[in-house]
Amino acid sequence: MEAVVAHFFVTPKLYDLDKTLLPAVEPLLGYLGSRFDEKTWFVKLYWGCLDALESRCVKPPQLDVWVLPTASACGCGGCKQLVQFCMDPFRVELQLPCPGRDAKEHLIDSVRRNQMPFVISNEEGALENEYEPLFCIKTGAEEDFDQRSVDRHSKLQEEYDRNMSTIEDMRAWIAERCGLVSALIDSLDEEQDSWYTPGYWTD
Ligand SMILES: [Zn+2]
Repeated sequence: MEAVVAHFFVTPKLYDLDKTLLPAVEPLLGYLGSRFDEKTWFVKLYWGCLDALESRCVKPPQLDVWVLPTASACGCGGCKQLVQFCMDPFRVELQLPCPGRDAKEHLIDSVRRNQMPFVISNEEGALENEYEPLFCIKTGAEEDFDQRSVDRHSKLQEEYDRNMSTIEDMRAWIAERCGLVSALIDSLDEEQDSWYTPGYWTD
């Protein structure tokens, strides 16, 4: 059985961590119950999954943060959205729908009076066209900025957070049951490159 488990981890393309191995861990735990620690193969499977998760879980690089503080005394929905946009760290562009010339003139005026830190790139066109949204872009982001890269980053960050949460749950579980202290877990991290390669585990 242990040889089978070792095979899982040296052929990750055949035994996908997310689709095959991790979903198997919980039902196996239910099946083994308190006998889980008599089953060396299961402990190895558990640690192997945890280690594989940790190996691939790389924190996304820091992104430029685009918080540009501003304020508006007006509490209308449009002005509130503009202030929120300025405070959003990961958004530099906004298409704000605001049908009607009066509504647009009000927002354009609000942006000027409050010296909000962005430009509206289609003022004239939007005023003439009832349903054209206002295109806002933060000051300093007019060139060389790709909102898609920010959206991709958000996805990576979400994936990272999800993986870290699984890792923390798995660490807590095994630490509690095996009486391991966190220092030991950390030392296992350090040798993570080798610890599920063939031959590493011997009884
Ligand atoms: Zn307003």
